[in-house]
Parts: sequence; structure tokens; C-alpha cells
Amino acid sequence: MPSDTVQQVADMISSADRITVFTGAGMSAESGIATFRSGDDGLWGRFDPMMLASVDGWEADPHLVWGWYAWRIGQLRDVVPNAGHRALADLAQHKVVDVVTQNVDDLHERAGSTVVSHLHGSLTATRCSVCRAPYDGPVARPYHEQIDGDDLDSLRLAPPTCARCGGDVRPGVVWFGEMLPEREWASAVDSFDACDLVLVVGTSGIVYPAAGLPDRAAGRGVPIIEVNPDESALSGLATHSIRSTAASALPLLARVIDG
Ligand SMILES: [Zn+2]
Repeated sequence: MPSDTVQQVADMISSADRITVFTGAGMSAESGIATFRSGDDGLWGRFDPMMLASVDGWEADPHLVWGWYAWRIGQLRDVVPNAGHRALADLAQHKVVDVVTQNVDDLHERAGSTVVSHLHGSLTATRCSVCRAPYDGPVARPYHEQIDGDDLDSLRLAPPTCARCGGDVRPGVVWFGEMLPEREWASAVDSFDACDLVLVVGTSGIVYPAAGLPDRAAGRGVPIIEVNPDESALSGLATHSIRSTAASALPLLARVIDG
């Protein structure tokens, strides 16, 4: 038997017409993608984000930064969408479901969801760091794929070269200190302004401006539902919180909805 909260949330999802799903690292954790902020084993607990994910870091050492992202692109090829990704894609068979994600992986797309906004870009949307031309050539994996402790030197790899201008190719993610892509931000805002239910999944809610989006909908009186095993900065905004993981809670909700 589902708990009262699960039943209530399932009823709310059933009666909603247009749902905006806002996802963060917890969405992909059960696919085996390492998270950046949770606990000591979060990637940013082990490595310096300013060295690996900023324009300054890139300019100081492009081989290290490219190797790091080539490693992550390689890891991404090895994992698959989890039951949570699949449940969201199934839900979109019955109603409008906009996925707005802070994740840079492509697991929502591979599960069959339409992602209206990749707020922080996409790992695989590689492009020229100089002229911004998209790069769709091969991305080699670093020769050594085991990270030895905190030493990332083994990942070092020369970035591919832009066919148009000869510049270094960079990952398609938004780095610290960079603006969010304008079109992705506008699509996210439109979605939060048009929905009648928000489902927040697996996000700590501390990375701005993305974390401010649910507040836009809440300001219109739209209910906010949270799925997160832990309390988050968005829990106070949530009308209901399901304290569980994406791959457990979302299929459970789908089963209750299907009744
Ligand atoms: Zn170029």
C-alpha cells in the first residue's frame, strides 16, 4: 500500500495537465553517474572545481580540463537511464511533461523524454572554444581511465581541433562564472510559467539562478512536489516531499497512477 503522501502526489500528477520536472544530480545517481555535491565522495569534494570547471582553469591547462571531460563523456557512454528516467518518459505519453534539467548527461533523452532545457549545458554538446562552432567529431577516451587518488594527471588529453578555425574544442557545459545559455534559460522560464505542477527531483537546490525557478511557479500558487532522499534547500517550498530516490519513487508513483 502506498503511503498517504504517495497517494496524494499520484492524484495531483493525475489531475495536472502540464508538469514541469526539474532535475538535478540525484536523478542520475542511480545510473552510476558520480554526483558533485553529496558527501565526501562527491566529485567536487575530491577535486577543485575552479581547476576543472572554469574558464581560468581551461586557459591554464586545457589538456587537463579536456581529459577530465573526455573521461566523463566516456563514463556517460557506459551507463544507461534508470527506472526514474523511464517513468518520466512514460508519463509524457499521457500529458505534457517538460523536463528542465541541471544535469549535463543525456540520460533523459536516451530514456525518451523531451528535454526543454539543459540549464547547465550538455557534456556531449562539444564546441569550439574560440568560434563556438559545434564539434561532432569523435571524442577519444583518456588512455588511463582509473583516477589514482586525487591525481588527475593520467587523464590529460589534447582537445580536438575545430575544423573551421583551428581552435581547441571544449565541452558543452556551463562552467563556474559563465552565464547560462540564453535560449535554455528562456525555455526553462517559459516552462515554469506555464505549468500547473512542478516536480523537483534529486536537486540540492543551491545552485543559482537555476534553483530560483521553482519559486516562480510557487509564486503563482502552483504546487511543488519534491522527490529527494534528503532534505534540500527547496524542501521549504514543497507542498509534498517524498523522501526517496528517483529510481524508487518515480516508478512507484507511476504504478499508483496506473492503479
Ligand atoms: Zn572554431
